[in-house]
Amino acid sequence: MRLLLVEDSARLAELLGETVREAGWRLDAVTSIADAEAALALSEHDLVLLDLGLPDGNGLDLLRTIRRQHKDLPVLVITARGSIEERIEGLDAGADDYLVKPFHHREFLARCRAMLRRSPTALQPVLECGGLRFDPATAELSCDGVPVPLPPRERALVELLMRDAGRVVQKRKLELTLSEFGEEMTANALELAVSRLRKKLQPLPTRANLVTVRGVGYMLQAEA
Ligand code: CA
Repeated sequence: MRLLLVEDSARLAELLGETVREAGWRLDAVTSIADAEAALALSEHDLVLLDLGLPDGNGLDLLRTIRRQHKDLPVLVITARGSIEERIEGLDAGADDYLVKPFHHREFLARCRAMLRRSPTALQPVLECGGLRFDPATAELSCDGVPVPLPPRERALVELLMRDAGRVVQKRKLELTLSEFGEEMTANALELAVSRLRKKLQPLPTRANLVTVRGVGYMLQAEA
């Protein structure tokens, strides 16, 4: 799952960013309408979290643009503007849900989950390789039915490798896909994530091996 956060308050963006990443989703965080439009053009997102008071305009205008260009992309408006009229205006402009600040992070997550259940990513089948299972809807890895807790980066990495299990995934592709807006994943960071993932997989009763293909990339391969 990849979320786009459009929020100009650095403090709130940091808090929501942490919450979203801990849930196992990737996040692109931007602070203006212009950057949000650029991010939407660059990558596919499963959910947009939208603040309304933005430095270069009203988030409702961005919402109307999103509705024209990405008809099915769910949008959760997050704002301090909580009067009945404002909520109605937001929903009429195309918001799927509306959350008024301040809110509890658990309610925020529950609303995100509710919206993500309908996203095309959530409808993707569970990935399997050599006893490992990864459920794209919950972003959870398990081995022979036992959950395997992973930090966000390694979780995203194992998902990408399982999607292409048995095939080499190029380093460059992994770097690009794992990069979040404004925070690029370097070759060193990728190597580190791979070695951490390998350590996590090692003690598991899995028949999947994480293979390094020198100079090309990595492959998750189930033993025959
Ligand atoms: Ca704001």
